[in-house]
Amino acid sequence: MFWTGELIARNAPIRRRASPPPWELPHLAKGTAAYLGLAIGDALGATVEFLTPGEIRHQHGSHREISGGGWLRLKAGQVTDDTTMSLALGESILAKGCVDATAAAEAFDAWMRGKPVDIGNTVRRNLIQFRKTGNPEAPASEHDAGNGAAMRVLPVALACYGRPPETAVFASRAQAHVTHHNALSDAACETLVFMVTDFLAGRDADAVQRERAAELVRRHPVFAYDRKRRDNPSGYVVETIQAVFQAFFANASFEDCLVDVVNRGGDADTTGAIAGMLAGARYGLDAIPRRWLRALDPATHQACERQAAALLQLAGG
Ligand code: MN
Ligand code: MN
Repeated sequence: MFWTGELIARNAPIRRRASPPPWELPHLAKGTAAYLGLAIGDALGATVEFLTPGEIRHQHGSHREISGGGWLRLKAGQVTDDTTMSLALGESILAKGCVDATAAAEAFDAWMRGKPVDIGNTVRRNLIQFRKTGNPEAPASEHDAGNGAAMRVLPVALACYGRPPETAVFASRAQAHVTHHNALSDAACETLVFMVTDFLAGRDADAVQRERAAELVRRHPVFAYDRKRRDNPSGYVVETIQAVFQAFFANASFEDCLVDVVNRGGDADTTGAIAGMLAGARYGLDAIPRRWLRALDPATHQACERQAAALLQLAGG
């Protein structure tokens, strides 16, 4: 919690100021687009989660509408754990005024008690462990390299916007280790945090690819995403990131990126969510198709907008 004091001290006067509407501040519009992109990618991808690309083609042609259904039998516009865990984490950050592991663990635990539509095995196992021990840090495990911490990392990126990189890394690990204490998960989470903040600061995709994605692959070559096309990405964070990066860097619009990644099937709600968060941060609010914004569950839409603004305000923006 080394940055609690820093945040509260710096933000006390800022938090009393009325926040300007998102369109007046570019980074606020992009942060809002990242949060809406996360939810839209989740809602779009959930329809085809666990299908193969062939099965998707057979059932949908190209899957490009937020239509609900899927193995979870969702309503059109309904989101899953990727978005609802992000919102739970974001609320805990706002309530505490900082990223705090125990507050995050309690928020996730309360979320689990609310009987979410889906929940990952690693998340469930380590939250049950937290209930028993009260320790918000899961034991390190080379097996816990799922994408469950990476899919919900966006609130950390927003709360750490403009802060030193060490602060972002510390906060990213605090939230991640509640359920996923693993070097590959950590590396993915931190890369996503830096990519989002880079885009909010107005950096272009080439620079972000050269510096952030390439750095991830340099440090952990298993993430190399430039070889074989990754279809059917599993919940393994490496496969998830490979599919997301391939779709994200190969396409030049929010819509094309999301359509590409979810039509690869596999863990499509999570690849959709992560790609949506990156694409939202990169392309901004105006690039999100209106029909997808209209289809998104209204309460979720509102919560994403509100949290994006509040988290950026907490960050000092
Ligand atoms: Mn999900
Ligand atoms: Mn998933």
